[in-house]
Amino acid sequence: MSPIKLVIIAGLLYLGYRLFISDWKKKKNKRKEDAEPKSVQDDQVEDVLVEDPVCHKLVPKQQAIRLKQRGTEGYNYFCSEECCNKFVSQTGEQE
Ligand SMILES: [Zn+2]
Repeated sequence: MSPIKLVIIAGLLYLGYRLFISDWKKKKNKRKEDAEPKSVQDDQVEDVLVEDPVCHKLVPKQQAIRLKQRGTEGYNYFCSEECCNKFVSQTGEQE
């Protein structure tokens, strides 16, 4: 094998090595981005059904009318303001 051929082969190997390394680094960075945690669950946590204490209908929590329970940290949920008002007049929760 002539020395010139050796140099060419060495150069090609070097180039291939450089390409391989940069490509591998790109892939590694991309994988890092993919692994980033995503906050997808936040909206779904609130998507639960709550029972209206007046008409006993199940309503999605996000759409329900919310009324704070007196003396507690809890809430009552209603399908409509009508039910909420009914509940208030029945129990005297609000003055
Ligand atoms: Zn109701």
